[in-house]
Amino acid sequence: MKQPIVIAIDGTSASGKSTNAKLVAKALGFVHVDTGAMYRTLAWHCLERHMNVEDPKAVASLCRRWKTSLECVDGHVLLLVDGYDPAKEIRGEAVSAAVSHVAAIPKVREWMKKRQRECIQFGSLVMEGRDIGTNVFPETDFKFYLDAHLEERTKRRAADGLIENLAARDQRDSQRAAAPLMIALGARVINNSHLTSAQTSGLILEEVRKRLGAAR
Ligand code: C5P
Repeated sequence: MKQPIVIAIDGTSASGKSTNAKLVAKALGFVHVDTGAMYRTLAWHCLERHMNVEDPKAVASLCRRWKTSLECVDGHVLLLVDGYDPAKEIRGEAVSAAVSHVAAIPKVREWMKKRQRECIQFGSLVMEGRDIGTNVFPETDFKFYLDAHLEERTKRRAADGLIENLAARDQRDSQRAAAPLMIALGARVINNSHLTSAQTSGLILEEVRKRLGAAR
């Protein structure tokens, strides 16, 4: 039986990871995993319970106890809480402001890494996040790092109707001690400030097919 493949797409906030990960997954028939959505789901769950997201002990304790399940629906992996998918709620401003605090907690990252590695049960994956190539699936040969100028990324968020201090979130993600955002060794770096998503995903697909061909 063929071993499942993992394509890791990491990068800064609003660098086009989701759009391109979905395009690449669709083109290859792989399953898409948005790990940012998993961290956002925990942040949302904490806020629902009026918890202080900057209290590592309280958040880690909640993370040990919450009732979750992983499901694959239409080619996308979802992290359900008590059977519920908070897809809309996790995109709000409160969750965006809270998420990088929750994500800096080492016990939370341990929990997330386990769940993210379990996604391989669904088949070959395109997994997007901040530490997929460095920490979650460091063994994969398919690593990409997306970035774009801050101005361009801020414009993209605003086009989605969201105003956010992306630089502050990137700084928290890059400077945390546990699995910080960085370029994985061997990753192909793509700055897509002046590229369309068709061009960016095209570059990723070209590289993946080249590496798959070389491995045959
Ligand atoms: O990708 P997205 O912007 O939805 O991610 C939200 C936040 O989740 C990031 O800013 C980061 O704090 C956290 N995250 C992470 N590691 C990942 C994915 C996301 O720390 N693999």
